[in-house]
Formats: sequence, C-alpha cells, structure tokens
Amino acid sequence: TRTVWHKGAFMPETEAQVSIFDRGYLFADAIYEVTGVVGGKLVEYEGHAARLQRSLSELGIPCPLTPEELLAVHREIVARNALDEGLIYLQISRGPADRDFVFPAAPEPTLSLFTQAKRVLENPQAERGISVISLPDLRWARRDIKTVQLLYPSMAKMQAKAAGADDAWLVEDGTVTEASSATAHIVLGGTLITRPLSTAILHGITRASTLDLARAAGISVVERAFTLREAQLADEAFITSATNFVLPVISVDGRPVGDGTPGPVTRRLREIYIADRLSRAI
Ligand code: PLP
Repeated sequence: TRTVWHKGAFMPETEAQVSIFDRGYLFADAIYEVTGVVGGKLVEYEGHAARLQRSLSELGIPCPLTPEELLAVHREIVARNALDEGLIYLQISRGPADRDFVFPAAPEPTLSLFTQAKRVLENPQAERGISVISLPDLRWARRDIKTVQLLYPSMAKMQAKAAGADDAWLVEDGTVTEASSATAHIVLGGTLITRPLSTAILHGITRASTLDLARAAGISVVERAFTLREAQLADEAFITSATNFVLPVISVDGRPVGDGTPGPVTRRLREIYIADRLSRAI
C-alpha cells in the first residue's frame, strides 16, 4: 500500500476517502497535475506548480496549501514511497457541498496526491514510436484548464486501442488540436511545427521546454495549427507530455509518417530534453 496525501495528512491509500457530495465527483469540478519523477527528483516542478495555480484561479478554487507547503508535500510523498521513477498525481476539487450548480460560497477544497511507479526513461515506445488514429475533438472549449473531465479523452484512447493503434490525435475545424493526453507536433523540412497556445489546447509544460530547447539547438520552430494531411505528409511527428517526454509518432491513420520510424529531429529532441530537464530536476 502506498502512502498518499489526502485532506491535510499522509495516510495509507486504503484510508483516503472522499464524500459522495464532493464536487469533483458530482460535477468534475476539479483540476489536476501530473509531475514526472526520475531518480527520486521532480521533473519540471516549477512549470507544473505554476499551471496548477493558473487552473485554480481560472475556476476560483482556493489552494489549501501555500506554494512552499505544496513543494514539501511533493518531496515527502516521493520519500515516503521510496519512489525512484514514475509520477505524482495531484488533484484539487472544490470540495463537498449540497448538490447545486451554483458554487458553494465557502468551499473546502479536497486536495489529494498519490504516486505511481512507472518506467519513464526506458520506454520501448520511444524506440519503436507510436501509431495514432484521428478522431474529432469533442471536448469542451476550455482545454487550457487542466480539469478532470477526461471522459472523452478516455473514450478516444479506447477507440484507438480497438483500432489497433496506441493513441488518438484530435481534430477540430480541420486542424489537429492535441493527442488524447499529450501535445501534438510535426517536423517538416527540419522545422518543428506546433499549434500556438490558446484555449483550444492545454499549455503543455513539456511543450514549452521542448520549444525552448529546440530553438537553443538551432532547430526552427513555427507555432501554427497544422492539418491531419500535413501530419501524414510530414517528415516526422511526435508528442510531448510529463511522463512521455518526447515520444515519436510513426503513423497517422495507418499512413506512415516519413519512413515510418522515429525521425532524427525527434530522437535528438528527446535526448536533449531528457539531458537538460533531468539535470534541472529538484
Ligand atoms: N494535452 C493534454 C490534453 C494533456 O492531457 C496533457 C497532459 O499530459 C498534455 C497536453 C501535456 O502537458 P504536459 O506536457 O504539461 O504534461
């Protein structure tokens, strides 16, 4: 049994309980963050902590802990679980209240954190690359807020699996928004092309660092929306996320991207990303 943080204390996972009136449960009125852990250290913690505050302020959910306390809980949960590699999942809901669409005047947010062990560095998918299918993006229009409304992404992933693929790329108005739980990118003529930030996508922490590192490495970056057809005709494609880092995409709707193997720019970015971000992990 893991030790989790729940409503202000560390406890065995079997003792952590949530009210059936919790707005996270009734309304998906909750936000979350996922922070990667490698060698017992937090990867990109500052970015995730900043996005957490932004999600909370967009929804008007008060944070039960100060930034210093939040970092201390992250560190301690890793230590208590002797977590070497994996992730920390954090969720804050607006808390329990009589069921009403109107927010409670004095919310008591429910904050929980747990760890999940996972091999993130040695990832067979990074060697092989993943296949994706396209699906319409049927999520709500505030994807910049990291809410727990993950039913559609979950359905999309199920459809991808049923089709023998690894993941789905979501399409809206003819352009790719994101993968089911990661940022989508392509490489065309040596240029990294990725959708600009807006309310249509989550502002990926891994995305931001990857773009910075690409520019620093002399790879040109263009932030614009791209079509599914462009992705299929691109030289390379990849996704970024906290636990996948930079992960090659080798086919889209059954059509190979480039020569159907992980491309050189993608491989290089994965190496640069891992070297740089692990050296800065705290
Ligand atoms: N887009 C979506 C929809 C996501 O769920 C995620 C989460 O991993 C990302 C993008 C990538 O964000 P990050 O790099 O901050 O993990």
